[in-house]
Amino acid sequence: MTLMHPREVEFTLPIGYTNGDSITRRQGAIRKMTGRDEAILADKANQRNGGKLVTELIHSCITQFEGEEKLSRQDVGQWYSADRNYVLLRIRSFTFGPELQAQYTCPACGEQMQVTENLDELPVRSLGASETLEDVRVELEDGYWDQDQNCHRSVTLTLPRGIDESAVAPMIRKNPSLGKNALLARCIRSFGDMPMHRVEALGAKLLADLTLTDRRLIDKALNRAAPGVDLLRDMECTSCGKEIRANLDMTHFLALD
Ligand SMILES: [Zn+2]
Repeated sequence: MTLMHPREVEFTLPIGYTNGDSITRRQGAIRKMTGRDEAILADKANQRNGGKLVTELIHSCITQFEGEEKLSRQDVGQWYSADRNYVLLRIRSFTFGPELQAQYTCPACGEQMQVTENLDELPVRSLGASETLEDVRVELEDGYWDQDQNCHRSVTLTLPRGIDESAVAPMIRKNPSLGKNALLARCIRSFGDMPMHRVEALGAKLLADLTLTDRRLIDKALNRAAPGVDLLRDMECTSCGKEIRANLDMTHFLALD
């Protein structure tokens, strides 16, 4: 890949995008955000839908992608969320620098800690060159009881994509927990012996009926399997010394001030 412009930088997707020709492509280049992208951030429709915002922003900032003359919004929507988050991080770091002001609150003593995060130093797990993404299989402890009193315990899931994020964004705005159920429901590939049309009809209700024990098993399995940027931060409270685990505070991630 030849960089056309000094304001471009290359990236390699942690998972990659497989188009109709079944070739997985991972290499591309981005440019810095411009005033045009500021308009994308300020657009009310984008602000209401985080998935749509990320699609628009990545689509706007990508200058090259291997094998594609022009990457479409539909292509970017088909990318795995892990790849989208990775490129978003690269765009932010390239435009505004890798430093991010974050704030964390200790759940034990309420101490507020200001931390300067370095986005370029977050751990990234990428698939190997010949590795392809496998579906995630989870064995539930309690399972789902259907109307005929059969219990279904084996779940197979794929990782979420941009189109899934966009589809559940309105629900996440209303209720994050229900939104997450809807997102996971879209990722189910099989659930015990239930026919898929039945699984799809049940949708988020299926997830809502699972015990929290099983929900945790699914979360753990997905986190373990997921390539991409590790956004979990481990730190020690500066006041009481408690070990804290929190998601990266992205409040000021794309703030333009
Ligand atoms: Zn504390």
